[in-house]
Amino acid sequence: MDKKFNPFKMAQQQFDEIAEKLSLDQGTRQFLRNPQKEMHFSIPVKMDDGTTQVFQGFRIQHNSARGPHKGGIRFHPQETVDTVRALSTWMTWKCAVVDIPLGGGKGGVICDPHNLSNREQEQICRGFIRAIAKDIGPLVDVPAPDVMTNPQHMVWMMDEYEKIMGGKFPGVITGKPVGMGGSLGRTEATGYGVMYTVREALKAMGIDIKTTTASFQGFGNVSQYAIDLFQQYGGKAVCVSCWDQADQKSYSFIKESGINLQELLKITDKFGGINKAKAVELGYKVSDGNDWLIQDVDILVPAALENQIHGENVNSISKRVKLIAEGANGPTTPEADKVIHERGIFVIPDFLANAGGVTCSYFEQVQGNMNYFWSKEEVLSKLDDAMTKAFTAVYDLSKRKNLFMRDAAYMISISRVAEASKNRGWV
Ligand code: GLU
Repeated sequence: MDKKFNPFKMAQQQFDEIAEKLSLDQGTRQFLRNPQKEMHFSIPVKMDDGTTQVFQGFRIQHNSARGPHKGGIRFHPQETVDTVRALSTWMTWKCAVVDIPLGGGKGGVICDPHNLSNREQEQICRGFIRAIAKDIGPLVDVPAPDVMTNPQHMVWMMDEYEKIMGGKFPGVITGKPVGMGGSLGRTEATGYGVMYTVREALKAMGIDIKTTTASFQGFGNVSQYAIDLFQQYGGKAVCVSCWDQADQKSYSFIKESGINLQELLKITDKFGGINKAKAVELGYKVSDGNDWLIQDVDILVPAALENQIHGENVNSISKRVKLIAEGANGPTTPEADKVIHERGIFVIPDFLANAGGVTCSYFEQVQGNMNYFWSKEEVLSKLDDAMTKAFTAVYDLSKRKNLFMRDAAYMISISRVAEASKNRGWV
């Protein structure tokens, strides 16, 4: 990890470079490089042992020119306000690149759900909503799950909002459980979305996915479903890394003959932590958590946190790697990006690769508004269409203008948001 790393500075640096290329005027730049509104608040919780603990929460609304703010809420012990600012900014570009009528927002709570009972987590969820209820809503700002939050958290949040507002407001949040206003396919959406774009990228590169191998960082919701679809397409996943809560470090799990997703899931906790001893029994080589990056594979899928591929480790990427698909938000620093670009590795940038989750959240809103829910096949087929269309638009622009994929994606998103802001007379 790069210790000096500041994700919001990185998001602004990425923005500034593209704003320059697009010759955006100063006012628009100033507006788009900062969030529209920030909420910082305390969430006091009566813990199970009778003490009161105060958790720090954030909701940051980056931009709403194209529609209500949209984006998840993370629970993480290392959460910082600058991380939430960056993630909020990236949500704006993410919704714009897949062309859904939503803006960007993000929330976070500094906490570690590993050490919290269900009741304590429920209190955090409810306290979070009490702090911001007047500033969110189906047409204002719509949260969703993210790192270490899940559909159960979303129901508690929705319920608290409905108690405050009086009435039923399923549209206030997405990622709800199926049967409670949630969409089929939402759980799979982000990971599958990553793989739809990998499939398209390989097609464009003239590579048969059946001949490829991949290494994944993280074994949470995104990674698990990305591996699932990759295997369905005939690819071979040989390595996956995950966080080990007991040791407070991560490990990589390697099997040259191909990992068996189902067997690994059986020995994985709800946070995506794989049991090391059992993995060894099953024939996995367990090594350092950074080893996922140095595997001799065709595809790398960082699907954990930001700041994972940086100046100090980028040169350890194997010569064989042809494609990096960013399942996580902000996994690659600009310094590493430069090296990757020079090496000619194809990159599917984060806010394009992982846009499947929010696209399915948008489908959840559409279905909720109609009060008519689609089959899983229908959801996934619409998701595939949306991701493929977004990938193709970015790829075509990158070919036409000879741009790095990340720059092409940024150009499309920033132009769309700048135009919407102008149309509204905001800038
Ligand atoms: N947290 C997901 C993301 O980073 C999904 C956001 C949403 O569905 O609003 O894209």
